[in-house]
Amino acid sequence: MSKLKFSRAWSVIFLGIISSSISNTNIVRASQDETATNNVPIQPSQEKEPHWGYGGVHNPTKWGELSPEFAACENGNNQSPVDIHSVEISPVHQATSAGIEFNYQPTPLEVVNTGHTIQVNYAEGSSVKIDSQEYKLKQFHFHTPSEHRFNGEAYAMEAHLVHQNQNGEYAVIGLLIEPGSENKLLKNIWENIPERGQVKAVSEVTINVANLLPRNELHYHYLGSLTTPPCSEGVNWYIFREPIQASLEQIQQFHAIYSVNSRPIQPINNRHIKFEG
Ligand SMILES: [Zn+2]
Repeated sequence: MSKLKFSRAWSVIFLGIISSSISNTNIVRASQDETATNNVPIQPSQEKEPHWGYGGVHNPTKWGELSPEFAACENGNNQSPVDIHSVEISPVHQATSAGIEFNYQPTPLEVVNTGHTIQVNYAEGSSVKIDSQEYKLKQFHFHTPSEHRFNGEAYAMEAHLVHQNQNGEYAVIGLLIEPGSENKLLKNIWENIPERGQVKAVSEVTINVANLLPRNELHYHYLGSLTTPPCSEGVNWYIFREPIQASLEQIQQFHAIYSVNSRPIQPINNRHIKFEG
């Protein structure tokens, strides 16, 4: 799909989402009621951070002022997300990497509605190996519209697969999501979303995030930050070039819970984006 066509398609989708958001909210609430018994609140320690959000007085341009711990959101020079602009991609490093070695295992489904996103916690035992470093998979979650952009264009959604090595350093894989076929993995997750601030463990459902990956492993790599407070830097980003698909209905269902949970594009400054795979 060309960029122009994509842009038009996205406008149509966005209008569709607005017009259907009321009915979708009802669908989500109905499924939550049926499963309220296995919901538990998020641990109190996770709720202590200062309130932040995507609109109003706590919007992304204010994050740096909300807490001294969030200073990097305002002062950092290597922030994420970025626009992956063709002219800034380093030609020297094109397709030179050995790539990412995946070791993803099935995990019992555990869905968290954090108040900022829908997150799936991952059990111990799954990891990626990049340049002989092992990063353990901790969780994955979703943003809408996509946080990373390609030549200024956003996708409908973006999934972030968050990994950490033994030194606590992050490697995050970003998967762009476009409207298309129904996504089976997302179906399992969407059917088990708890209310805000709740965790829902569904031991009888097992998922494998390997099923979310696109076939083509070519990706863009750059050094950035967490895209939510505290916006910590030193995050290795790997944005896959081939988008994955979710049905329009699935995208709308996420929109009914979080209409926008995406940080604006940050300056690239002196960084290089490498194309690898
Ligand atoms: Zn994210």
